[in-house]
Amino acid sequence: MFMDSMIKVSGISKTYAGKAGDVEALKNVSFEVKRGEIYGIIGLSGAGKSTLVRCLNLLEKPSEGSVIVDGDEMGNLSDRQLREKRRKIGMIFQSFNLLMQTDVLDNVCFPMEIAGVKKSEARARAREYLKIVGLENKAGSYPAELSGGQKQRVAIARVLASNPEVLLCDEATSALDPETTKSILKLIRDINRQYAITVIVITHEMAVIQEICHRCAVLEDGCLVEENTVEELFRHPKTRAA
Ligand code: ADP
Repeated sequence: MFMDSMIKVSGISKTYAGKAGDVEALKNVSFEVKRGEIYGIIGLSGAGKSTLVRCLNLLEKPSEGSVIVDGDEMGNLSDRQLREKRRKIGMIFQSFNLLMQTDVLDNVCFPMEIAGVKKSEARARAREYLKIVGLENKAGSYPAELSGGQKQRVAIARVLASNPEVLLCDEATSALDPETTKSILKLIRDINRQYAITVIVITHEMAVIQEICHRCAVLEDGCLVEENTVEELFRHPKTRAA
């Protein structure tokens, strides 16, 4: 059902030099995410999930291997091209990463301002994105006045403001209760369908994978040990981790 390749990761490794010796956070990891797919990566704490996400947008440079996003080899881009490319790769986090001194509307305007969109246009568009995430009545609120789920909705509206092709969700629901988690996952799925945004979901929670992912990979101790459709992974796990 999904054909085109959106993200192709080939043999990436990442070694951190530490005082107590080197840490191999990723070992020869390869996988491919198709355009429009929701792809899950599950693993325990310390498995290398955050390192892997940072390698996808080259916030972290892999020690070996290549990452191709929408046909572009990330390692070959100039600094300017890389900045442009990162704009197409939205991220949401467990900690939301909102600007706390800035109201909701201006939080959503922020990426558009950076991109040089006129203030009046940015504000109009921001109101549209807030409508999509169901927060049109919170435009003037500050992040501290919002619940966790509402903060994540603002973060999602802000991501939409960059017209991303890819959305990376790094433990995006891990700070939320089960009910709120479900509503945020539903929003992510709606966005995936409506805007054809390819989604990568990084999590330690099986329930999250089960809820929205088409396919899923298991990361264990820096190695990608298993990959399958979600149904198969649950029905016939090949590894102990799964
Ligand atoms: P996860 O997100 O699955 O919890 P991480 O990617 O954060 O895993 O970490 C994987 C391994 O790499 C861990 O052993 C961690 O201690 C190590 N690590 C992560 N970031 C760094 C860093 N900047 N310097 C040294 N070691 C790191």
